[in-house]
Parts: sequence; C-alpha cells; structure tokens
Amino acid sequence: MLSYEHALQLILDRIPAPSRESVPVTRALGRVLAEDVAADIDLPPFRRAVMDGFALRSKDLERGWFRLRVVGEAAAGAGLAPRVGPAEAVRIMTGAPVPAGADAVQRVELTEALEGNEVLVREPVAAGTYVQEAAAEVRRGDRVLSAGQEIGPPQVGVLASFGRSSVRVYRTRGAALIPTGDELVEIGATPAFGQIRNANGPMLLAQARRAGLRARLLTPAGDDPRALREVVRRNRRVDILVFSGGLSMGERDYVRGVLEEEGVEVVFHRVAVKPGKPVLFGRRGAQLIFGLPGNPVSTFVTFELFVRPAARRWMGLSAPVPARARLQDRIRHRPGRLFFKPGRCDLSEGRMLVRPLDTGGSSDITGFARANCLIMVPADREVLEAGETVSFLFLN
Ligand code: AMP
Ligand code: MG
Repeated sequence: MLSYEHALQLILDRIPAPSRESVPVTRALGRVLAEDVAADIDLPPFRRAVMDGFALRSKDLERGWFRLRVVGEAAAGAGLAPRVGPAEAVRIMTGAPVPAGADAVQRVELTEALEGNEVLVREPVAAGTYVQEAAAEVRRGDRVLSAGQEIGPPQVGVLASFGRSSVRVYRTRGAALIPTGDELVEIGATPAFGQIRNANGPMLLAQARRAGLRARLLTPAGDDPRALREVVRRNRRVDILVFSGGLSMGERDYVRGVLEEEGVEVVFHRVAVKPGKPVLFGRRGAQLIFGLPGNPVSTFVTFELFVRPAARRWMGLSAPVPARARLQDRIRHRPGRLFFKPGRCDLSEGRMLVRPLDTGGSSDITGFARANCLIMVPADREVLEAGETVSFLFLN
C-alpha cells in the first residue's frame, strides 16, 4: 500500500502553480505575499526625538552648563525648529525632527522650566541619547518583506509604512464540501433510529476555512450514484472538491465509481495510514478531488494530512512539517500503517512534551477533540517507549 510520504508527494506534484492578484492592504490580512517588498523611503525618514524633552548639545552639559536658553519648539509634523547653538535648547516632542546643532535629548522629567525662557537640566546626557538617526531602522531599497510570507497585522503595518496601498498576493482557492450518506440528517434534527447527524459537514467547513480556502458546504448527497453524479457535474469549476464517506468497499460506496465515470483520474485510493486508509485523491483538469473516509476522526485527520497541504501549496504556502518532542507515555500499535495517534503537546519547563490520549478510535470525535497534535507512530513499530523522541503534527 502507498505510504503517507509517497501519497503526499503525488498530491504536491500535481498542484497547479499559484496565481497572483492585487488586493488593497486593508484586505490583505491572512493572505500570502506574491512579491518581495522594498522600502521606498528611509525609516525613520529624518533624525527624530524618541522622548518629550529638550534637544541640546551634550557638550554643554559636560562643561557644566545646565542652564540653557530655550530658542524654539519642535513638534511632530510642525517643520524644522531653529538651530541649537552653545548653551541653547529646543523644547521637543516625541517624533519631531531633532534640530541641527543638537546631538541629544533630555527627558522633560529631568528638567525644570525657569523664568525668562530658560530651562534647567538636572542630569547630563551622552551624545545620541533619545535621538534616532535617519534610516536607523530601514534604508530605502532594503527588502522588508519576502514573497511567500503570510500577512499578519505587523506585515500590514510594514506595507503601510512603505506606501503600499495595494499588494500582490496569491489567489485563494475555492472548495466545495460534500458529505455523503443516506443516514445523515441535518444538525438541527433529532436523529431517528439508524440516523446520524452530519457532523463532518460543519467540521470540514471549519477546517477548510482555517486552511484559508473559500469553502462552501453542500447539502449531503445520499448513497445514490445519480445524486453523486449530479454533484460532480455541477461543481466542475470549483478548485477543490472534498467528499466525505462512501469510499470503503461497501455495497453502497459509490463515490469512486462515479468519479471515474465522470472523467476523474484517480491518482490513489488507499494509503497506509491509520485512521483514514480508504482516502482517495484524483484530478480532473486543474481540479483536485479528495474523497475522505466518513468516520469523523478519519475525515478530520485525512483533511489535515492531505487536503490542507494541497490547499497551502496552491496558495503559495509550504506544507506543514512535523515537529519533534519527547514522548511521555508508551504507545502500542499494530504495525502495518503509519499511525497518527491523537495527543496533547504542552510546554513543561521550557521543553515540549507529548502525551498520547486514549480515545474511542476513528468514530470518536468527542474524545479526539481533546487532542492538539497527532503523534506519528511509524508503520514498522509495535511500541514507542516513554522517553523516545517522536515526530508529531500540530493541529492548531
Ligand atoms: P463511510 O465512510 O461512508 O463508510 O462512513 C463511515 C462511518 O462514518 C459511518 O458510521 C457513517 O455513518 C459515519 N459518517 C459518514 N459521514 C458522516 C458525517 N457527515 N457525519 C458524521 N458521521 C458520518
Ligand atoms: Mg457511507
């Protein structure tokens, strides 16, 4: 059976190149930069005060001249104040340009206003104190952001600092999510005998949104080839189709057959992972199609393992990589498939530790919901001992 790594590679090799668009900076949050961004100006653009106080010549204080004549005022945005000569000072506000002649600022708290437009400075300051040189942070032309970076609030601040009212980002991708199963009822209903609420629908919608997809949740399709065919035909233009359920070997598992009849190239069906063995991946032109097994934990895990990396790659992001940490409790497992064991990872005294959780398996989404990571138990290992270093995937 196909290994997880090989299956993931088969998917990643088939992702179309991401395309780009421009968006206003006010809508860029959460998007991925598709260009490098260079500084169009120095920052700060001029030598500026970083405290309220008095701009002065540090040499005057060294000489013991603590009484200075106030020759002007420098406020942020108010033009340049007069030159500061010997025994002179300029009252200055945070963010104002430091006038010529001055080489330091003393904080207003350490000064005293005297009659006759004079100020008494109570403590000396070294040259450069509370003065920030022009271009101290960034020099014009420097690269300040790189293509491939996710745009969070600080990156929005950087874009704004350098005059970027719009920015090139990778296009997001659309997804349609299709739960299948005759037993499914809407979540507002009380299930009758043999029925089950459509837990996967809203869960997949949440996962898809968290992955940055523009996702739409469709009405569940019954276990009926005609209904499934209809959905596959109607959603030709959606970038990614995600089915849940209907992929096992049962009498009524029609998803694969219908996909093939509709011209989908099935790249793989079944991967040596637990949970989620019957996972399917296919392609129709540029469209990617995933069939996820219907048990909620299997659905969740296979989305994270296969759909999320695909979506990220198509939107210009790298695939998430496993982290490593020390295992707290032993894990036993029947060898054969790579086992993604639900676990908790937590920092303890500065070290990352992971602990496996006991849950009811691939249908037990309630037990699974306590997990914040998936511990990877290699297919050929029967036991992982406490104290071993193991690989795991973060879920948040
Ligand atoms: P299947 O993959 O269709 O064989 O379904 C496997 C198990 O998952 C069955 O017990 C289904 O009832 C259950 N299941 C399938 N789809 C959903 C869903 N959307 N929400 C909750 N459980 C589901
Ligand atoms: Mg089913």
